[in-house]
Amino acid sequence: MIDVFNPADQSVVGSVADTAPEVVAQVANTLREQQPAWAALSPKERARWLRRYRDWLLANADRIADVLQSETSKPRAEAIIEVPLAAELINYFADNATKFLADEDVTPSGVLSLTKKLTITHEPYRVVGVITPWNFPLLVPAFDCVPALLAGASVLLKPSEVTPMSALELARGWQEIGAPEVFAIVTGAGATGQAVVENTDYVQFTGSTRTGKLIAHQAIERMIPYNLETGGKDPAIVLADADLDRAVPGVVWGALANAGQICVSIERVYVEAPIYDEFVARATDLVSSLRQGKDGTEFGCDLGAMATAVQLGIVERHVDEAIEAGAKATVGGRANGRFFEPTVLVDVDHSMSCIREETFGPTIPIIKVADEDEAVRLANDTEYGLSASVWTGDKARGEEVARRIDAGAVNVNDALVNLFALGVPHGGWKSSGTGARFGGAHGLRKYTRAKAITAPRMPAPKKELLWFPYAATRISAIRKALHFVAGHDLRRLVRF
Ligand code: ADP
Repeated sequence: MIDVFNPADQSVVGSVADTAPEVVAQVANTLREQQPAWAALSPKERARWLRRYRDWLLANADRIADVLQSETSKPRAEAIIEVPLAAELINYFADNATKFLADEDVTPSGVLSLTKKLTITHEPYRVVGVITPWNFPLLVPAFDCVPALLAGASVLLKPSEVTPMSALELARGWQEIGAPEVFAIVTGAGATGQAVVENTDYVQFTGSTRTGKLIAHQAIERMIPYNLETGGKDPAIVLADADLDRAVPGVVWGALANAGQICVSIERVYVEAPIYDEFVARATDLVSSLRQGKDGTEFGCDLGAMATAVQLGIVERHVDEAIEAGAKATVGGRANGRFFEPTVLVDVDHSMSCIREETFGPTIPIIKVADEDEAVRLANDTEYGLSASVWTGDKARGEEVARRIDAGAVNVNDALVNLFALGVPHGGWKSSGTGARFGGAHGLRKYTRAKAITAPRMPAPKKELLWFPYAATRISAIRKALHFVAGHDLRRLVRF
């Protein structure tokens, strides 16, 4: 068994099975057996199950928020938001499933396929493995399991061993609505996760870049596809024409929501020189006013504890190293038990770990830049490329700067919001991942394999022109026809 703790006070809030690899294999087999019947349902029928599931989640939202809060010590305000966001996700993919999964008719591309009716079908993987981290214990699993189920796959979820209790609620809901047995959860740590990769046909992973690479190697050994959403070091660029009344609270929230434990958290801020002092002063004031602690159901706090001791250690190291190298904390800077004070760092430079490595904690390092070009250059000077934000009074300029940033998403005058826009891709560039988690039709189709079906459009002759035996007149006629269509100019035509 694995004990689950409330990070704020280390009290044990539950314990879950450390599932052995053989058991994972058995569960995957059952899912594999159940999947064809699930895939045989129409997208509309599967959507009906998912909508029932949504209703169950909404009906149990308060209890689920309690569970979520107990294993994360998130503030209540953040704990209650995961279920309604999951419900929105269900609605989006359920409403669009028929359209996104429909067969596609394709126009022939040339002479040799001219007489064919061409169709692409989208056929689900049998068992999709989903491996998730601890920062959004309900929402991240929902992000991946819901579309995979709607696509017609069975789903095997392995939640983080740090926060498995919320995911177990997801399993309980699926059972309580009496849905087909195509969704199962195995709790456990790395070895259980490895067994998931070993026994599934597609792996969707969210977590550290290090583990992501291990999973990718394992998946390639088995020749199964995977998608990774890994670390980030998201920059925010604040231009001199920005409205500070919005930019300051926006950046502070983007950096400190969930105590900075979000893959798309703002982790570096570049501020143009003319407004630098004012930005730092206002950000420091705002951060000083935030309430940190363990609240209950009364919305008493803005920031909770760090989810793991390891993560706390990373944040401490980044801040200590920065301060040793000459940086200054205008507010915060210290750990207090499992909490790390929300911290604004100034006088930081690009060699420091707080700028180069993912912190995943409540820190806001701020760097003064001369102009937009320097801001963009520094923003791109990172191994990561998950998302970014640009703050400016000129929306057109904001979009232009957005195009210059090497990242999978850029928000103009906002933070994190791309995560809630289900029609656009959510995926990392560079070391932040491969492919995208969702984004319109791709969000469902990624859990399917495309199949090309060619069929005769008209009564087929006994033999196709290219078939044996090769006869000089026939082959040269085909050659002429191909040249005629492909050549596009008289000179080439006359050569034959
Ligand atoms: P973090 O601990 O920061 O969440 P990890 O990448 O270590 O990041 O963990 C993310 C998820 O990956 C967790 O569910 C974890 O149990 C799982 N995991 C860890 N190691 C492996 C592995 N070798 N194979 C598969 N899953 C793993």
